[in-house]
Amino acid sequence: MRVGLYPGTFDPITLGHMDIIRRAASLVDKLVIGVAINRDKGPLFDLEERVAMIEAECAALAQDSEIEIVVHPFENLLIDCARDVGAQIILRGLRAVADFEYEYQMVGMNRQLDDSIETVFLMAEAEHQAIASKLVKEIARLGGDVSKFVAPQVNDALVARFG
Ligand code: ADP
Repeated sequence: MRVGLYPGTFDPITLGHMDIIRRAASLVDKLVIGVAINRDKGPLFDLEERVAMIEAECAALAQDSEIEIVVHPFENLLIDCARDVGAQIILRGLRAVADFEYEYQMVGMNRQLDDSIETVFLMAEAEHQAIASKLVKEIARLGGDVSKFVAPQVNDALVARFG
């Protein structure tokens, strides 16, 4: 059974993440969405809220596809999390050159920690490529409309948070 781990902060989950999740789901038998607790980043939504939003967004996808989708919070090393959930591959999304620099270093380091786990990069559709949680939060904070970037429930949560 091919198990993939898609890790991130998902603060909050966007249509960019969903695009990657849909693509990842077609490559594995079981997809584990790893939600980094990331206290240092001072997330807008706490872990329970982020997990609930991901579960809600993935429910329909899990029903439509044959695969199992599991949401798994983690605070340890990514490689250890991959081992814990039995993942052979780590899936990451790539947006622009800025992502590449960071991901390049991560792959290099992770390979030295465990050479048996492969990292696979996916790109979202053009209209989803520029979406970043950080910018979505910034736009929502300033009263802008983010409904093109996130699902309706996530939009509601952002509106509720920022009034
Ligand atoms: P991180 O804090 O590690 O960047 P994120 O939650 O921001 O975590 O992102 C998780 C993963 O999803 C990363 O691999 C990131 O590059 C990818 N990702 C986020 N938004 C997009 C997008 N619009 N298109 C493609 N990949 C994306």
